[in-house]
Amino acid sequence: METIVEKNKCTGCTACMNICPKNAISMEIDNEGFKHPVINKDKCIDCGLCKKTCPVLNTTSNKSLNKCYVAYNKDEVSCKNKASSGSIFELIAKLILNENGIVIGAAFDENNKLNHIAIDNIKDLDKLKGSKYLQSHLNNIFTYIKENIKNKKILFVGTPCQVAGLKSFIKNDFNNLICLDLVCHGVPSPKLFEKYIKEIEDKYNSQIVDYNFRDKKTGWDTYSNTITFKNQKEITQLQKDNKYMKLFLSDIALRESCYNCNFKLGNKYSDITLGDFWGVNNYYPDMYNKTGVSAIIINTEKGNNMFNNIKDNIIYKECKLEEITNGNPSLKISGKYPKKRKEFFEKLGNKSVEELSKKYSRKNNIYMKVLNKIKKIMRL
Ligand SMILES: Cc1cc2nc3c(=O)[nH]c(=O)nc-3n(C[C@H](O)[C@H](O)[C@H](O)COP(=O)(O)OP(=O)(O)OC[C@H]3O[C@@H](n4cnc5c(N)ncnc54)[C@H](O)[C@@H]3O)c2cc1C
Ligand code: SF4
Ligand code: SF4
Ligand code: SF4
Repeated sequence: METIVEKNKCTGCTACMNICPKNAISMEIDNEGFKHPVINKDKCIDCGLCKKTCPVLNTTSNKSLNKCYVAYNKDEVSCKNKASSGSIFELIAKLILNENGIVIGAAFDENNKLNHIAIDNIKDLDKLKGSKYLQSHLNNIFTYIKENIKNKKILFVGTPCQVAGLKSFIKNDFNNLICLDLVCHGVPSPKLFEKYIKEIEDKYNSQIVDYNFRDKKTGWDTYSNTITFKNQKEITQLQKDNKYMKLFLSDIALRESCYNCNFKLGNKYSDITLGDFWGVNNYYPDMYNKTGVSAIIINTEKGNNMFNNIKDNIIYKECKLEEITNGNPSLKISGKYPKKRKEFFEKLGNKSVEELSKKYSRKNNIYMKVLNKIKKIMRL
């Protein structure tokens, strides 16, 4: 076996690496900073399992219940503290942890590298809370899940392609496994984030100890990035002024598979999909909450049961799917491949993030476009 799927379609989900009976596949970082499978020909026995497991080559359309809600956690502190939207993830995670289960999501390590980790204690939940806008490394987490799923309840949270990868690898739809995916318009390069972190650390002459992409002290819908340093200095920038966020929201540095994503509505593998309810004021002004409002799409009966178990702790209303997709077009369609993406990655090695942001950020990024569209609807 030489390759599993074309490079520009591979999501880096690791299902192939985890399934390979000969450990012939390793995930290696390419020049854009994304991990891709590399096959060791000396170890490969051509069994074809990797191709049979790859969710991109075997995408199935999955019928969703499409039960939709606008909602937020009744606990205002929980919403404010790290959660990106209405802090629905925290409520579901607590249910699992209270049953001695395991919760798996994305967390920064001490070097600001993003990995999926497993926790079994509520005191560690803050590490997982909040969206981190770069691709998270899954490492061997799928194998860990397979080894533990028979004895423990497990909640896995990730991008739709990560959930698809896990389900393709694990095959059996274990009752014990609950999967949440996120509304996802794409993941930027970890190499870009690494470069940005280094430049900021050099500028402020101190190590970054916390990076909050969704600080709500300037509002949920006008959120900021807050960076905390070891020397206790803290900087807060509105997302529209933050150089890294400008590049992210311009879609210039996303993984190639994100421009032609296989895992939009209709091809969902998760039990529940979570996102921000952008445009909530157009439909449910009484549901606006300054600390965050979530959009919830229930895909399966398992997801529905989970939702029923958190109902007492949330304020919610049933809504229509199109009310969610109007503010979140990325649920249905992928972003356009930017003409200058190749040039951007060629320059990534020798230009600063400030210079790159100046040259390659769109003035009207996806976030601004959605906000403008919402404002237009409100004027009608
Ligand atoms: C890269 C990315 C892009 C997104 N794009 C959109 C969008 O376009 N529109 C929209 O409405 N919502 C988007 N979201 C989802 C949204 O930001 C919230 O994560 C979601 O609404 C859940 O919010 P919450 O308050 O319930 O939970 P939170 O407490 O915010 O929990 C977030 C969960 O996501 C997991 N997570 C965080 N970062 C990553 C990552 N990089 N990869 C995999 N898992 C991660 C965490 O482990 C945690 O379990 C995106 C999220 C990410 C990570
Ligand atoms: S063909 Fe089989 S042995 Fe070869 S890389 Fe794929 S899974 Fe591994
Ligand atoms: S299984 Fe996942 S990582 Fe492997 S080739 Fe397919 S998409 Fe890429
Ligand atoms: S846009 Fe699609 S391919 Fe890209 S990270 Fe999200 S789910 Fe994966």
